[in-house]
Amino acid sequence: QEDDFKKVISHAKEYGYVTQSSEIYDGLSAVYDYTQNGAELKKNIREYWWQAMVQLNENIVGIDAAIFMHPTTWKASGHIDAFNDPLIDNKDSKKRYRADVLIEDYVGKLEGKIEKEVAKAGKRFGAAFDRDQFLSTNPRVLKYQEQATDILKRMGRSLEAEDLADVKALIEELEIACPVSGSRNWTDVKQFNLMFGTRLGATAESSMELFLRPETAQGIFVNFLNVQKSGRMKIPFGIAQVGKAFRNEIVARQFIFRMREFEQMEMQFFIRPGSQKEWYEHWKEARMKWHLSLGMGKELYRFHDHEKLAHYADAASDIEFRFPFGFKELEGIHSRTDFDLSSHENFSGRKLQYFDPELGEHYVPYVVETSIGLDRMFLAVFSNALCEEQLDDGSTRTVLRIPAVLAPVKAAVLPLVKKDGLPELAHEIIGALKWDFMVQYDEKDAIGRRYRRQDAAGTPFCITVDHQTLEDRTVTLRYRDTMEQKRLSIAELKDTIQKEVGF
Ligand code: ATP
Repeated sequence: QEDDFKKVISHAKEYGYVTQSSEIYDGLSAVYDYTQNGAELKKNIREYWWQAMVQLNENIVGIDAAIFMHPTTWKASGHIDAFNDPLIDNKDSKKRYRADVLIEDYVGKLEGKIEKEVAKAGKRFGAAFDRDQFLSTNPRVLKYQEQATDILKRMGRSLEAEDLADVKALIEELEIACPVSGSRNWTDVKQFNLMFGTRLGATAESSMELFLRPETAQGIFVNFLNVQKSGRMKIPFGIAQVGKAFRNEIVARQFIFRMREFEQMEMQFFIRPGSQKEWYEHWKEARMKWHLSLGMGKELYRFHDHEKLAHYADAASDIEFRFPFGFKELEGIHSRTDFDLSSHENFSGRKLQYFDPELGEHYVPYVVETSIGLDRMFLAVFSNALCEEQLDDGSTRTVLRIPAVLAPVKAAVLPLVKKDGLPELAHEIIGALKWDFMVQYDEKDAIGRRYRRQDAAGTPFCITVDHQTLEDRTVTLRYRDTMEQKRLSIAELKDTIQKEVGF
């Protein structure tokens, strides 16, 4: 598993997707740059989300709020008082961990043991093997599941009660039962605020302490009434936004899964108080459908309903994705009640109420939000796409099966040779296609090697221009996933490709 993840990271760098920030200075931990292909993939995911949320929903509009906000915002949102992570240091290794993530790693070990049992039984029973039945009846599996549930429950209770001594005790017990960190000498658990501070203004007297926003949601809450009025929005309605957020995370080699500067895609849906259960279920289902629409496979996703709730929520569920290092949160769906708007009313002294013409009354709306990390979605798509494939002739190829709608470059145009007018013709084809999607020219190396390079870069189509093209204006179109090739006319290219790469 660890090797698979290392391959993902090195492939991302080698093929122009992601690299460590300021690498020539040895990098900055948990901060990353998206290079040429990565920037395109990220943009395509962002647009795929924006289209599904804003363009296709008449009652959702999009905004772009500032990263800097008035500091009282964070008092009202609870981030100054409650946006903490429990930290623990190991005295032997001098490593710092997030206590809850460390405990989840122990649970991950138990899940690994369950998967081993499944694999063993799968081999034993062959085609007759029923995974679900096995999981719900095998005594060893049931014991592991029970242990995992107990650990998470105990952690939830201790964190909620701020009983940090018990969190430490739990880590000590778990380290003996199933070692993860390899050392046992721990400090006490401390709370650590995740917000980055900075200062606004040049002079010492007039400057003001600010925070870089740790979530995009608050930019939406403070604009709620403004957007409702100027857009003449009627409840239920939503406001969506994509933008950067910053958290001083305690991280351990997780690549772009947990970053200090990252991007969120959030939507806050404003509803009548009392209708939150219904809308919470609605958005859980709608968001899962969005994920499944990419066709990466249903078995990669699962819901995880929370028992321990954040200070603002009355129900919360994660959509988890099977990353190379196990199932982890990709998106959260939260029923936030009127916590944020009411709190902003209190702190700002302004009314943030909606007049409901059907009920004939004013109220502070309730909110159901969907919140997904753009970078985490990128990692889900990218890590799942990378595979080594055994071919019929015994050779292997590396292929990056990014869904065609999200692929950075849709087609590469390849002249068979660098002479006889083929490069010119290839450029002519690029000239005709580039208005509709990203295309790329490549003439270096033998055609087979160019195909392999495009497979590994995730390009769904290769268009090969050869001598026959000069005579009859037909080209070869090669499909990345099946490696199938077909002959068609230049005039047919645009529609054929568009059908596969359009949203
Ligand atoms: P976690 O428990 O993993 O720290 P969270 O529950 O704090 O995440 P939310 O505050 O609900 O996360 O944020 C919503 C989404 O934003 C998450 O589902 C995740 O996709 C993304 N996200 C949060 N923190 C980070 C981060 N440090 N780096 C990248 N993406 C992040």
